[in-house]
Amino acid sequence: MTGGVTLRGTAASPGVAVGPVQHWDAAPAVHVEPAADLADASRRVVDDLGARAEAAVSIEGRAVLQTLAMLAADPELLGAANARIEAGESPSLAVRAAARGYADQLRSLGSYLRERAHDVVDVGARLAASLDGREAAELPNPGTPYILVAADLAPTETALLDSAVVLGIVTELGGVTSHTTILARSLGIPALVVCTGASELATGQQIVIDGSSGELHVQVDDRLVESLRARERQMGDRLARAGGPGATADGTAVALLANVGTINDALNAASADVEGVGLFRTEFLFLDRNDEPDLDEQAAAYAAVLDAFGDRRVIFRTLDAGSDKPLPFLHLPAEDNPALGIRGVRTWMLGPSVLERQLAALATAAAQTGRRPWVMAPMVATVDEAERFAGLARAAGLTTVGVMVEVPAAALRSAHLLAAVDFASVGTNDLAQYALAADRQVGRLGSLLDPWQPAVLDLVAATCAGAQQHRRLVGVCGEAAADPRLAAVLVGMGVRSLSMAPVALPGVRALLAAVDLETCCRAAELARQARSAPAARSAVADLLAG
Ligand code: PEP
Ligand code: MG
Repeated sequence: MTGGVTLRGTAASPGVAVGPVQHWDAAPAVHVEPAADLADASRRVVDDLGARAEAAVSIEGRAVLQTLAMLAADPELLGAANARIEAGESPSLAVRAAARGYADQLRSLGSYLRERAHDVVDVGARLAASLDGREAAELPNPGTPYILVAADLAPTETALLDSAVVLGIVTELGGVTSHTTILARSLGIPALVVCTGASELATGQQIVIDGSSGELHVQVDDRLVESLRARERQMGDRLARAGGPGATADGTAVALLANVGTINDALNAASADVEGVGLFRTEFLFLDRNDEPDLDEQAAAYAAVLDAFGDRRVIFRTLDAGSDKPLPFLHLPAEDNPALGIRGVRTWMLGPSVLERQLAALATAAAQTGRRPWVMAPMVATVDEAERFAGLARAAGLTTVGVMVEVPAAALRSAHLLAAVDFASVGTNDLAQYALAADRQVGRLGSLLDPWQPAVLDLVAATCAGAQQHRRLVGVCGEAAADPRLAAVLVGMGVRSLSMAPVALPGVRALLAAVDLETCCRAAELARQARSAPAARSAVADLLAG
């Protein structure tokens, strides 16, 4: 390709940006009147983030800014900082230290709270800056707009960016579901994350970034830029036209659903253009609890979600505890290999009652709301487990019962498993972890965990083939569902629902609306024939571009 792809990152916010590189190591400060005390600093930061939340153009961006604003007034954080101040520490050091302590506590509750931990440290730094009289971070100002290149960006720094000055963002760290990425999308700034080598680009060097493919080109070439922009315009037109239920161009229905983990997530998703919830991670409601929530408390939480979604599908996953999601009240035994230990549905080995109480709470919520929730179990590996779970769920009065396919054994034996239940939902995050023997918490193994790995795709295809024997529905609720081209591949294999973070949904809907089922089948064939994940990705990109 003209211009040459020189670096590859992960596509995080769509759009094409062309401009000179400007490195940014940390937000420089402007000097302002220091806050009088911690309470004053908290008020200032809350007001600033609140005002930015009001002005945010997307629901997701607003939700992130509101979360940050709430953290800046969080009684636990401020209480811990005040205790340190009373013990003689300077206010700005105290608030930073309190934030670090709070963040460590969140991290100990599992990798899913990594983003919240990142936010707490970020907000602690903002409070400290306000106390030191360094309130507003200023962007570099070389006099012309630029592409900002940084090791990483904190969410509150991203919230300050002005899209008239910052044409694009490239970070060496970060992730697609990070709050920084969500804010970049809400500001309409194209972004690449996990772009190794970006720090070596020369300041002032012209580059082109493609926030849809993740490519970074040096040597700006007019024809390349024009072709990328033409594709963006086409994508923009599709996005503007698409809405409503998901379907391929020739009308095969593919339900587009949201992944949620808190009541707030669910309420936000309910007001978006989604067909329901494909994965409610119920363990998120109780990650910081030392005692099991009682039936009434659980039922109230589930009923709130069912009410918000009305007639739309809501799939609750029963508690997925263990490994990356420790649940203190379950008192899981210490293990050398927790990802291979007592986790997910296996926690019933410690006594089935927690699961039975959860199923009873779901049934109570169903009765209270008059809705019919779907329920599924995580980490099911054998037919016996599927049968036992289905028996418990049906005995509780739940009618639509499924299993997650996250373990290769379940994918390979899906015909047998699905004889016992009504549907399957493929968790590609864990499926990749177990198929490639790569711990999903080890960032350096990212290329092994890539859901485009042909072995992972073979396992999804095996799941669909088994399900077809019983005419059972197969959905995908792992990260794979959020990648538009991979979504086409999954549909080509027989997947008929895709569940993802709501921000990713319009892109998936638009791509599916532009391809027919036969093309999806061809994409699935090409991806599975490829010798590697990058080869699968590029074969499908070529097919869908042609
Ligand atoms: C998965 O493993 O793909 C999945 C959706 O479950 P979780 O990410 O919560 O483990
Ligand atoms: Mg999983």
